[in-house]
Amino acid sequence: MGVWWFGPRRTFLRPVASPPRLEDRSSLNLQISPLWSSADPTRPRPPVPGPASPAPLTRPLSLRLAAAARPPARHQPRPPCAWARGRELGAMWAGRVLHAALSGGPRGRRAQSALAQLRGILEEELEGIRGAGTWKSERVITSRQGPRIHVDGVSGGILNFCANNYLGLSSHPEVIQAGLQALEEFGAGLSSVRFICGTQSIHKDLEAKIAQFHQREDAILYPSCFDANAGLFEALLTPEDAVLSDELNHASIIDGIRLCKAHKYRYRHLDMADLEAKLQEAQKHRLRLVATDGAFSMDGDIAPLQEICRLASRYGALVFVDECHATGFLGATGRGTDELLGVMDQVTIINSTLGKALGGASGGYTTGPGPLVSLLRQRARPYLFSNSLPPAVIGCASKALDLLMESNAIVQSMAAKTQRFRSKMEAAGFAISGAHHPICPVMLGDARLASCMADDMLKRGIFVIGFSYPVVPKGKARIRVQISAVHSEEDIDRCVEAFVEVGRLHGALP
Ligand code: PLP
Repeated sequence: MGVWWFGPRRTFLRPVASPPRLEDRSSLNLQISPLWSSADPTRPRPPVPGPASPAPLTRPLSLRLAAAARPPARHQPRPPCAWARGRELGAMWAGRVLHAALSGGPRGRRAQSALAQLRGILEEELEGIRGAGTWKSERVITSRQGPRIHVDGVSGGILNFCANNYLGLSSHPEVIQAGLQALEEFGAGLSSVRFICGTQSIHKDLEAKIAQFHQREDAILYPSCFDANAGLFEALLTPEDAVLSDELNHASIIDGIRLCKAHKYRYRHLDMADLEAKLQEAQKHRLRLVATDGAFSMDGDIAPLQEICRLASRYGALVFVDECHATGFLGATGRGTDELLGVMDQVTIINSTLGKALGGASGGYTTGPGPLVSLLRQRARPYLFSNSLPPAVIGCASKALDLLMESNAIVQSMAAKTQRFRSKMEAAGFAISGAHHPICPVMLGDARLASCMADDMLKRGIFVIGFSYPVVPKGKARIRVQISAVHSEEDIDRCVEAFVEVGRLHGALP
């Protein structure tokens, strides 16, 4: 069936064999579904031939755009409003510019030389990244996420130790089933942001469940935790306020803070004396918000939330914690760093992700005081201007939370396996950063050593990643191992054995 597209004005509706490619859409301002009817949006309607004959797709793009901008001859136009006329003129202009670019005229030559200049700049940038040795390549997984995966170009299955799939819920049968059921019942997606027509009952239910899980008043969903961090600070803080941020906070917190107009203080990583000095300086501001990761993903170290909350209370500050690497598995029942450290009632705001332990699909949230959540629904830009989460994602995350609220068996299994890996590696002579966290960075120091050892681990069927500068400080290269509840004890032991073998081969162990 042809797909229906609106031209610059509703009256130019016409069927085309396929939708224009993205780059062809400069003059097409409105898309409608083939099932849409102005009389009854829910009633499917067969396509009616449009007033103009379809423009053949073989015509040059510039001519198609110009045609789209011209009213068809047999059409009886309604009196054009100023807005519609403006859109028409815009479309005609776009058609002419494209025509010039595609023809060999002076404007076309200028457009081509701008493109050549851009290519030159991009090549130089890319060469710089390669030259600095910081090029990130992606291994292509050809199976589901899990403890055993298949990777393109590597024969046989490999043991995966580098996903944030801490609880193994990414391919848990009940989680997948819940996702399928939500997909079936609520569709593929909402084609809308939340406040227009993108809120379904399952969104509200999941927000209530998240608030209940964290024992907070309310929660708000975002497309990702990156978005939750991008939305929070700008919506909450004004130039009268101050935010105090750990220097090693996640990039999304840093970017979120950049977007707000509050006064910014950066304290040294986990350094409570420095935080206290900055809090004293910040006394002159209206609100003070201390922002920290709960667990830091490069080192597996945990923020000293007891001291942070004590200082916050002494200096009248609020505490914000990003719990992406804690939600679902830190603390006796997996509530996170605040549960682990006994300060659940002292942390004001939590941001976290559905894209790691809670099913691993995507999505993020803020949970905290009711009025804050209400304000975010009014002001947070990533919430207001981005699509609502797809039902399948909601279904998966909701089931992940149910599993965690029913029992803490998975949480305890992950903790036991983490302990097994850490103690066996330390006994073998490796230095493992952090404590108790399933992120277990094997500290090697030298960047080349980390990279060569990671490659040799893969040859032995173990997937781990080496990290070096600038992702981590110079001289602190490491291989980051992440333990999951679905690794078996044999998997853990195989990983340790491979590390010992490869470590000896490269002189990292005697
Ligand atoms: N915050 C932290 C600490 C993270 O590690 C991440 C993801 O890597 C994010 C935020 C972003 O989460 P999401 O993937 O949901 O955008």
